[in-house]
Amino acid sequence: MARKSRWNPQVIEQPSPVLIDTWIYGRISSDQEKNADSVDNQIALATEYIATKPDLVLRGAFRDDGYSGTRFDRPDYIKMVAGIVSGEVRCVVVKDLSRLGRDYIEVGELLFKTFVQYDVRFISINDYYDSADEDARRKRLIILFKNLVNHMYSRNTGKQVRSAYASKQRRGEPIGNKPPYGYVYEGKGAARKLVIEPQGAEIVRLMFNMRAEGKSIHEITCCMNRNKIPSPCNHYYNLGLSKNDKYAVWRPWDGTTIRREILQNEVYIGNLALGKTEVRDGKNHRKPREEWIIHPNNHPAIVDRASFDTVQQLLAEASERYKKHGNHFEENIFAGKVFCSCCGRAAVRSIQRRKTVADKFDYYCTNCHAELRHALGKGKIARFPLEAMEKIIYTELRTRIDTCLDMGSLLDQVSRSETFTANRTMFLTERRRLEQALVQAEDLLSSAYIDHLFDVLDTREFELARTKFESDRNAAEAALEHNRQELDRCGLDDIRKNECLMACRRFADFDRLDRGIVAALVKRIEITPMCREISVELAFRDGFAELERLVSERGAMANVG
Ligand SMILES: [Zn+2]
Repeated sequence: MARKSRWNPQVIEQPSPVLIDTWIYGRISSDQEKNADSVDNQIALATEYIATKPDLVLRGAFRDDGYSGTRFDRPDYIKMVAGIVSGEVRCVVVKDLSRLGRDYIEVGELLFKTFVQYDVRFISINDYYDSADEDARRKRLIILFKNLVNHMYSRNTGKQVRSAYASKQRRGEPIGNKPPYGYVYEGKGAARKLVIEPQGAEIVRLMFNMRAEGKSIHEITCCMNRNKIPSPCNHYYNLGLSKNDKYAVWRPWDGTTIRREILQNEVYIGNLALGKTEVRDGKNHRKPREEWIIHPNNHPAIVDRASFDTVQQLLAEASERYKKHGNHFEENIFAGKVFCSCCGRAAVRSIQRRKTVADKFDYYCTNCHAELRHALGKGKIARFPLEAMEKIIYTELRTRIDTCLDMGSLLDQVSRSETFTANRTMFLTERRRLEQALVQAEDLLSSAYIDHLFDVLDTREFELARTKFESDRNAAEAALEHNRQELDRCGLDDIRKNECLMACRRFADFDRLDRGIVAALVKRIEITPMCREISVELAFRDGFAELERLVSERGAMANVG
């Protein structure tokens, strides 16, 4: 029987995969995080993942419950590293990189050195990172950046959007040019002048009289509200100066308006003060009185000078008493930073004196409280406790500072990395070459001109030479500009100059809030009228955005390198 020649492929047996001893690492830092991301959840997720990988054998889990990612003396973390060194742990699986730690430098060491040195496979599920993948080497740095960026975004975005919205609302308020209470405008443009509006003027006089007789601002406010005297917004509506129908309904007075806008306003003795405020950092600030421009006897007075002075005297004394009384007040670390999210006015700090325990401080908006009380009927309306505010601001600042410090050291590290150092050397060499080319083009241009002067070159030849050398010179200048930008991108300058980072580094070790850190790092705090919510806008928003940009940009560059 003829042998049939047949193609006899060598049977390649599917080699049974080398099984790798795999461990899960789970960590959670605090109770707050617990609900969303418990260690059990992390381990369940990783177990499911491992089940889909035929070459991984689950040997166990390390779990650090209640340990911050910034510490590396976590018990199970130490066990894990020991397991890696002894060869027992061949593969580590985490839910995401931040489980390993929040110190990105330390985690980088682990990723780049320890895992590599001991040939340990590392998988971060949510980062789609598996060190056994072919492009893993390239992806190492980028996942570090990704985690950092994600971490920052998740912490910050919500708040910034909310505060931007709030400030738009404030800007959107109709800012009519309304006359002071008790006056109306007559005439237009430069001829416009203030004339007395009798009804309003009567109210103004009444207030001055009451205060001069020793009634307090509080008593005056109550009296106005009891008698349903039109407050400024109702008054303007009644006069047809405000078209918003919500002001058709009577709204209560608040003490600040009575004190600041009526009793302390020298418009009522006939003086017109201009330039009382200035816009700084996009906000209105009240300037000291010496800087105002005052036009005396500009219009008819409602109150005589003597009564006005008496009232000022009484107000000053009351304020002095308040300050003295306040000697044992705690320092107001949030002074000038807390505002109402509804009306935009400064929120007031109040004190509840208590005999046996420490006094309690709260914040609330006097203006909105008056309205709320009126709308809801009498009753206790919440105030925002100082203690809670301090906790929230502390956490915000700690997070901001930690994030910035992380970004700063990561950027430093990347900028000193081989890729960047090599790039820098390359661009510096390039710069020297371009500078020489520039000098040369200019030399040639001037010698062509001299040659032309001495008739060595005729006009046509000179024009030709000039065109060429000028275009050489322009090309060198453009290339130098580009080179400068490239050098900036791989230098340390914009990191060192970043004011957000500088400020955060200055307060790196802060452990309690004080006036200094709040003044430097908090821009604005807003509480809602019902005091249920708070939003915080931190300072150096641009500097922080710049840092984020640098992190993404350099992360991308490091990845390319
Ligand atoms: Zn308010």
